[in-house]
Amino acid sequence: MRPAAHPAARILVLGGTGEARQLAADLAERPDVTVVTALAGRLSTPTLPVGPVRVGGFGGPDGLACWLRAEHVDAVVDATHPFAATITASAVAACAATGTPLLVLRRPGWQPQPGDDWHRVPSLPAAAALLPDLGERVLLTTGRQGVAAFAAVTACWFLIRAVEAPGPPSPQRMRLLLDRGPYQLAGELALLAEHRIDTLVTKDSGGPMTAAKLVAARQLRLPVVVVDRPPAPAAPTVTTVAAALGWLARPVNVAGLW
Ligand code: NAP
Repeated sequence: MRPAAHPAARILVLGGTGEARQLAADLAERPDVTVVTALAGRLSTPTLPVGPVRVGGFGGPDGLACWLRAEHVDAVVDATHPFAATITASAVAACAATGTPLLVLRRPGWQPQPGDDWHRVPSLPAAAALLPDLGERVLLTTGRQGVAAFAAVTACWFLIRAVEAPGPPSPQRMRLLLDRGPYQLAGELALLAEHRIDTLVTKDSGGPMTAAKLVAARQLRLPVVVVDRPPAPAAPTVTTVAAALGWLARPVNVAGLW
């Protein structure tokens, strides 16, 4: 329960996504809540949200539970990336242990459209195993943490697009393109043509910011390897910032819980 010294409800937003930044910005307008956004600290130049930011891991579920108690957090919104499964599992466990209400904000996955040639796989290693059967010049957009899974694929040349450079190991034949979305269709078509890309690899991240590559691949009839999401967490889940704001707008009951 919040002590009387904290009249505003205290919300922890687990961030690292555009949705988390939008949620923090919208909540900053509300006098009845205070918000802290937590970032993992992976990027040296992260796009920061409005309001207070806490950078770095909590030390697993127990560490997060301690932090929730110490900071008198009233509710947690897990607005992390759909593939950030470890912190999401931590949030589920820590919120259960502390009785803290938890909402997961997860954008929907992408859906194939007529004309798509998608090859769904369960993991990055499965994507790497499939690639030599599909093409030779690959645009790899799975994020720098996913690059190592492709290090042993010698049959393909890779254009690796990431926000920051991946550490070793990396594929032998590759070029690194440091860039940060959002991306537009014209630019994606030009990139695919310039590098004579014949195969695209992506995680099923969902959302509009990086979806143009899928449209470009459809137009050029390129195969796309789509890595499926980890299992959805066992927690109430919404898909939009508006729905998360609606959940947070419910009145605080006498126990200080939603
Ligand atoms: P992860 O594997 O689920 O998390 C690994 C560890 O990093 C967690 O156990 C936690 O450390 C810490 N952590 C992760 N997210 C955190 C957060 N928002 N605040 C504080 N600590 C956090 O996560 P990941 O896949 O490496 O992603 C890291 C961050 O990048 C996430 O916040 C995510 O939203 C963002 N991101 C991820 C991807 C992706 O493809 N995975 C893409 C775009 C953005 P402790 O156990 O010590 O608490």
